[in-house]
Amino acid sequence: MDYQKIINDIVAELDLSKFDGKVADYIPELGKVSPDKFGVHLNCINSGHYSHGDSDEKFSIQSIAKVFTLTMAALKIGNKVLERVDVEPSGDPFNSLTQLEYENGIPRNPLINAGALVVCDILLTELENPKEDFLAFVRKIAQNPEINYNLKVARSEAKSGFRNAALVNYMKSFGNIHNEVDDVLDLYFHTCSIEMTCKELSETFMLFANRGCILNSGERILTGSQTKRINAIMQTCGFYDEAGEFAFRVGLPGKSGVGGGIAAVHPGYYSVVVWSPKLNPKGNSALGMRVLELLTTKTELSVF
Ligand code: GLN
Repeated sequence: MDYQKIINDIVAELDLSKFDGKVADYIPELGKVSPDKFGVHLNCINSGHYSHGDSDEKFSIQSIAKVFTLTMAALKIGNKVLERVDVEPSGDPFNSLTQLEYENGIPRNPLINAGALVVCDILLTELENPKEDFLAFVRKIAQNPEINYNLKVARSEAKSGFRNAALVNYMKSFGNIHNEVDDVLDLYFHTCSIEMTCKELSETFMLFANRGCILNSGERILTGSQTKRINAIMQTCGFYDEAGEFAFRVGLPGKSGVGGGIAAVHPGYYSVVVWSPKLNPKGNSALGMRVLELLTTKTELSVF
């Protein structure tokens, strides 16, 4: 498969003027990013790297970090995570509060904000130095010691994160948050603030394309079964109330973030990351979704 030609053909075919989404500015620091940034990086298990545009520029991975918090919590306490958070698609926006009331403070899944906040609460209980240990874990699966939090973004979100504060307080009232509300929020905002380039993020996601092993070293992090389950959660819950649309149009497990990144994997084949900060009304990168739709259309391959 000539992935570079496929990426070039996709880019040539796109009418960029048609993608007029909105950069997320409810986190003021994210609103400073140029809307016209556009990068693609595909990491193929057998044949290396293919890219386009701003693929070596760092961006805020935001909710894509929820996949890493879930992975770390699953490694720490296994299926016990599922006593605190479910694995059903929510069909609601990423920051919704509504289902929590009638579902007694148990979030629908670990990839919406409520679920990721519970997962951060689990990590606070399980880790000695939560922020340091989580960052070290991401650096390990990224095989990259340069990965960092962006403290400006974390602080900016802390100042404006009223909805996340509401979610944690609400879940605490049901007994599903065990640590201090401020500590849970602080860890969550830090995880969301991690910055990576498209290339770095696709290398990190290779873990999920490569059945739980780091590609270069061959070190096993997750069992095949754990990897399958995390991919299943990405497939059904990775795009909030647009998960069905993403499965229909793209057909790969993946995760979006309001920084405009989308990371997706074709297990056994490749991991791919697209970054374009203009978001559609559901909070997913409009151009990113289209690029991935064209990728699986042109390769005629997806998990389906
Ligand atoms: N940090 C963001 C928030 O909690 C993440 C949301 C997202 O990327 N969908 O609002």
